[in-house]
Formats: sequence, C-alpha cells, structure tokens
Amino acid sequence: MADHVRTVLGPVAPDALGRTSIHEHLLTLLDHVAYTPVETPEGRELGEQPVSLATRWYVRQQWVGVRDNLRLDSEAVATAEVARFRAAGGGAIADPTTDGIARDPAALARISRATGVHVVMGAGYYVHRSHPEWLEAASEEEIAERIVRDLQEGAAGTPVRAGFIGEVGCSWPMTDRERKSLRAAGRAQRATGAPLMVHPGRHPDAPAEIVRELDAVGADLSRTTIAHTERTLPSPAAIVELARTGVRPSIDCFGLETAYYPLAPFVRMPNDGGRLAIVEALLDAGLGERTLIAQDICQKHRLTAYGGHGYDHLIRDIPVMLEAAGRGDAVEQLLVANPAAWLAW
Ligand SMILES: [Zn+2]
Repeated sequence: MADHVRTVLGPVAPDALGRTSIHEHLLTLLDHVAYTPVETPEGRELGEQPVSLATRWYVRQQWVGVRDNLRLDSEAVATAEVARFRAAGGGAIADPTTDGIARDPAALARISRATGVHVVMGAGYYVHRSHPEWLEAASEEEIAERIVRDLQEGAAGTPVRAGFIGEVGCSWPMTDRERKSLRAAGRAQRATGAPLMVHPGRHPDAPAEIVRELDAVGADLSRTTIAHTERTLPSPAAIVELARTGVRPSIDCFGLETAYYPLAPFVRMPNDGGRLAIVEALLDAGLGERTLIAQDICQKHRLTAYGGHGYDHLIRDIPVMLEAAGRGDAVEQLLVANPAAWLAW
C-alpha cells in the first residue's frame, strides 16, 4: 500500500492535504501542567480571571499566568476557528494533543467532519506532570505497545486512529519517566514507520540528548521532528546544525509576538521576523526539505475569538512575508510538500 496520511476520518493520499499546519491544538487542557501565576497579590488575582478584552495585554505577556488561558475547552469555538482556517485556504492540521492533556478523538472527528479540514491526531505522552498514572509502573515495551495500538487500532476505546506519535514531552533535565516515554515512542516509531514529534526541554542541550536517545532505540531520525526549536536553540546556526543530524526542525511558534517567554525568562523569544530568518538560514543551507513550520496554538489568547491570530495566520500572513522576502518559491514547500512528506507513512 502506498504511503497515506492517517487522519481521524481515515487514510487520505498525501497530495489531498493542501496547506497544512503540523502543530496546532484544537482542544486541550494544560492548566494542570503549565499554570504559573505571577507571585504577587495582583498576579494571583489576575490568574483566576477569565480571558477577556480587559485582561488582554496581561494574558499576552503572562500567557501561562492565567488559568483560563490554558484551557481550549469549547468544541464550538474550536470548530469556528478551524472553519476560518478552511476559509483561508487551509486543508489539514496535525494536532499533537496527547492522552494526559485532554486528547478527544471523537471530538476531533466531529470538528474535521464539520469543517472539511483533515485532522491528524497524535499518540504518546507529553511532559511528566501530564502522564497518566499507569506510566509509572509500565515498561518501555508496554508503553510502546500502547502507542502502536493507538496508531493501528484506535485510541481511547474509539475506532479513531492516531496518525503520528507526539508531542512526546521532555523537561530539562529529563525525568526518568520522560526518558522511558521518549524511548518507547522511538520504539513505536521503529515498529510502524509513523512520524514522530518531540517537545524538548528548555535548554540548548535538550535536542541533542533526545536525538541520542532516539538513535539508541533505532528510531528513524528522518521521520522525527524536534518541536519549538526557536525557543530552545540560541541561533539560526544552531538550528541548522540540529537539522544536519537528520531530524526535521519545527519552527512552530509563529504568531507568538512577545519576546518575553514566561516559562523560561532567559529565552529571548523571536517574533515572526526572527522565525523567518531561521527558515531562510535552513533554506540557504539546503535543508528546506526538512523544515516544518506551525503555530502551536494551545492558549485562548491566540484564537481569533479572544483577539488572537487564529489557525489561519500561518497560511494567510506568513506566505505574504515569505513573498516579500523574495522567498515566495518556498511557500508551497513549507506549507504543502513538507507537511505531506512528514505525515505520510
Ligand atoms: Zn504543542
């Protein structure tokens, strides 16, 4: 059988995807993992306020400091936001929400059906704090078997199959249970050939350590993407160097325009201009085929319903910026060919 993309509604040919984002969360709960209110009386008070126009600037700056911001909990809102993506010419979204941060296979299938956007669902386990309890006692082999089952039979007691592994979460330093989960994901990748996405810890040495662990269990690095490279590695040159190991770097926080990165304030987060400079460095190094771009929307303030840029920013505004930079010939590669090549197996 030729390579197909495994969507929540079944397999489709890779060339059916169209413009694709390889990393957006449609429904997810992250407050139990990431909520970090600013430790002042005002910060604690604002942290429990709903996201609104009145708190808009605060939420934009302290996006893990407001509990409500970390809850994408409305299927109606998600459906409307994905419909906007469709109307802007979007064809497919890979959603790396895992079991532990409220993955909902049936809801993803309903959103896909309602909007006509292909949705590809993830498998595996995110960072330590989100792990389901059974992971503690499980062996690497048992975790790998569960991931393979999600990919081949269906997830969470539904017939909806995952189409890739990820995002597999690692902290810095990596915990023992995260290492077990990462190695299990690598084994499941080797067993199936599925695409793999890893969320690295917030340290410049994290991606290389992940590559070593995956290599040790025989995972195919060319099927692997390291997420969030622009907040993890200090320069475009360091991301080029990572890509030379054979993995696909994701530059996947497009739309996030705040330099302040509340989860790791030592990081000076690039804006979209800085992200395009990274993409250009990869293109110039002959690594354009490995380059993946996305937005990693997992907060309310980035949805249009809350004054944000929406899922459509990637496919509507970023091509305009690429054209203006004289890189118009890379648009189809970055938004159509590369996502399809990574997602097909
Ligand atoms: Zn993500």
